Amino acid sequence: MKFYSLNKKAAEVSFKDAVINGIAPDRGLYFPREINPLPASFFENIEDLTDHEIAFEAIKQFVSDSIPENILKEIIHSVLDFPFPVVELEKNVATLELFHGPTLAFKDVGARFMAHCLGYFSEGQNSEVTVLVATSGDTGGAVANGFLGVKGVNVVILYPSGKVSDIQERQLTTLGQNITALEVNGNFDDCQNMVKTAFLDSDLKSEIKLTSANSINVARWLPQMFYFLFTYKKLKSRKQPIVFSVPSGNFGNICAGMVAQKLGMPVAHFIAATNVNDTVPRFMHTQEYTPKTSKSTISNAMDVGDPSNFIRIRNLYKNNFEELKNNLSSYSFTDKETKRAILKIYNSSNYIADPHGAVGYLGLKEYQKDKSNTLGVFLETAHPVKFLDVVEETLKLKLPIPSQIQSVLEKDKVSFKIDTYDELKSYLLKK
Ligand SMILES: *Cc1c(COP(=O)(O)O)cnc(C)c1O
Repeated sequence: MKFYSLNKKAAEVSFKDAVINGIAPDRGLYFPREINPLPASFFENIEDLTDHEIAFEAIKQFVSDSIPENILKEIIHSVLDFPFPVVELEKNVATLELFHGPTLAFKDVGARFMAHCLGYFSEGQNSEVTVLVATSGDTGGAVANGFLGVKGVNVVILYPSGKVSDIQERQLTTLGQNITALEVNGNFDDCQNMVKTAFLDSDLKSEIKLTSANSINVARWLPQMFYFLFTYKKLKSRKQPIVFSVPSGNFGNICAGMVAQKLGMPVAHFIAATNVNDTVPRFMHTQEYTPKTSKSTISNAMDVGDPSNFIRIRNLYKNNFEELKNNLSSYSFTDKETKRAILKIYNSSNYIADPHGAVGYLGLKEYQKDKSNTLGVFLETAHPVKFLDVVEETLKLKLPIPSQIQSVLEKDKVSFKIDTYDELKSYLLKK
């Protein structure tokens, strides 16, 4: 499969080059030339397939000749070595738990898949690749963990100082080896802008090979469709219209779910639930896309004012607003509503949700107000322990700390503080 740039001023490239470039030379996001639906028999007999077989069939057309099939199968095996449980909390309300990976957030899937692909592409190369990534919270940890020790790859993570949770910060600042954390005096959008500027900087590009591990990278974005398909397999026998509510920030996760739908997965509707960073809910209301500076919230991984992947979603629907609206609803919620939802879910279902999952729950409930026959699934995108302070304070209880977290809490944070793009540049050039 070839990938083209959504800005349409750059050449079409293979999956391999799309992964290595991250973003196209014209600053556009890469998008597959076609999305060929899987045969109807795939969905009719999906319960007979293993999750690994499902993932392989789903991603195969996108990766095509860039990675041989046997290697792709091995990659899928190593990436998907943890469960994706669907837990029913109320009648017609279930949660898809995406926090059973090594850093306890859904980003482990995309980050590990990308790390394996890049590791494969770097074999036998003598030049190193630098992965430059901005994080609003969980990307940093997932990318650091996925790429730790991958030969030929250096990882530089930019995160907004004081705006990620303590556990998130430790997950990206304590690993060492080929992972460096830069602590930016600014917000997530500042970090993301520095990364975008670096990709356009010709001095830098002539000195080092740079790529990105944000969800703009196709190797991080596309594998996120896997767990939508696994969930469909589990819920198919219920014979109800399935809707997914996805707590969204950069809109990569929900867009991957929509790709699964384009592959033919029967889904009735998607709900994009956001915190007060409501650029998309406003767009769905007014048809005007007016990004705003991001505001800090308790669901910090979604503090995004100008979501990068929304353009991919619009493109999936060929910029046809009516068609998009038939498939997508979007609602925004305040921190106060989110905390109330955490409490309500705990009191009525004895389930501890994290702030992002709680936003997803709220979006689903809003949609189901007049669509109560749907079987709703909201994505629990991170383990509640990653947002320890908020969850413990809201529920007035102590959470047990899982072993993956215990081990980072014992290590010392190492980061370098930067204020400006020039400091980032000189850091990268010195390496
Ligand atoms: C990254 C993240 C999100 C937002 O996902 P997008 O793909 O950027 O929309 C939601 N919840 C958690 C916990 C995250 O880490």
